Amino acid sequence: MIYLYYGDRFLNYNFGPEHPLNPMRLGLSYKLIEDSGLIDCQTELIKPTSAGEVDLHLVHTLEYIEAVRLEEPDPAFGLGSDDTPVFPGIFEASRFMAGGSIDAAKKMLQEDCIAFNLAGGLHHAFPAQASGFCVFNDAALAICILRKKFSRILYLDIDAHHGDGVQQIFYEDQDVLTISLHESGMYLFPGTGFADEAGAGSGRGYCVNVPMPMYAADKEYCLAFEEIVPKLYEWFQPEVVVAELGIDTHYSDPLTSLNVTLKGYTYMVRRLIELTNRYSRGRLLALGGGGYNLAVVPAAWTGVLHLMRGEPPCEYLPPSFVEFFSNEVGYVPISLPDMDIKLGKETQKRVSAELAETLQSLKAVHSRIHPRKF
Ligand SMILES: [Zn+2]
Repeated sequence: MIYLYYGDRFLNYNFGPEHPLNPMRLGLSYKLIEDSGLIDCQTELIKPTSAGEVDLHLVHTLEYIEAVRLEEPDPAFGLGSDDTPVFPGIFEASRFMAGGSIDAAKKMLQEDCIAFNLAGGLHHAFPAQASGFCVFNDAALAICILRKKFSRILYLDIDAHHGDGVQQIFYEDQDVLTISLHESGMYLFPGTGFADEAGAGSGRGYCVNVPMPMYAADKEYCLAFEEIVPKLYEWFQPEVVVAELGIDTHYSDPLTSLNVTLKGYTYMVRRLIELTNRYSRGRLLALGGGGYNLAVVPAAWTGVLHLMRGEPPCEYLPPSFVEFFSNEVGYVPISLPDMDIKLGKETQKRVSAELAETLQSLKAVHSRIHPRKF
């Protein structure tokens, strides 16, 4: 069974009209899923509940939860920055976003299933710090819930940004293997996630970072994924997988400098589902994450749901969705071509060389800790 977590209250997580995290990305995604006929006997829609303080405290400090509840700018807690401004209702809205992933994780304690929280993946939040559009770290909260039953949890993050909050929270933990493929911190927020960040203490070797070169496209992403991810599934044998499926790697994304297409994204999602079926009995908790082109996000995440159901993503948008999108957003969403972006010869050479070097140093770092990992 697949459980899709969505509620219109997700739309209240709204940093204002100038902010790139437009809540319409979630409403439009759900609309496309619904109009594609995907809420049926295979996929059940569940409306999430708000996260309670006891659950939030699994990751966040009481002082921080209190600071968010006050809904006032407080630089000591990262609240009120340009990236994460405070708005009236931010506490309730943030609790609801986190609630989707917490509820999904609790469902997975009861039965082997797939769960998908469209609003999840707020991977930059720290225990006592809001950061990068993220207030509560629902991914880390879900992992803490899953630990009540499972002893080996894989967190796999293919968002364009480094999953720094989740990494830090489990940095010394050998039961949670975190893998993040992201545009290198040399070029993009949050400026971390380099190959030599590999975990600490008993968690040393249980944190894997693949910083991708600027302009990396499907070819580079698929190569990096295949070189690193399947071997880690085999080595770690995860009992359950939490995946952050941000689509801000897309070539049209306004915040990043990568050239991934929906074809490359689909390839990675299909492979992670296959690997999760093979090693983890199909137990997958998927979280939306980033993605700032309003026409791309719904197509990507509806495609994820198709793949979870064992179907190919649909290439056409239903007319009802086209009409709805046009009215809401103000332009007609055309299916974006899976462009194979041609870089200049020298640039392509630089991109390939940078990736080869990254993969080599990443394997060297990890082979020193666990010789049989790669
Ligand atoms: Zn992102």
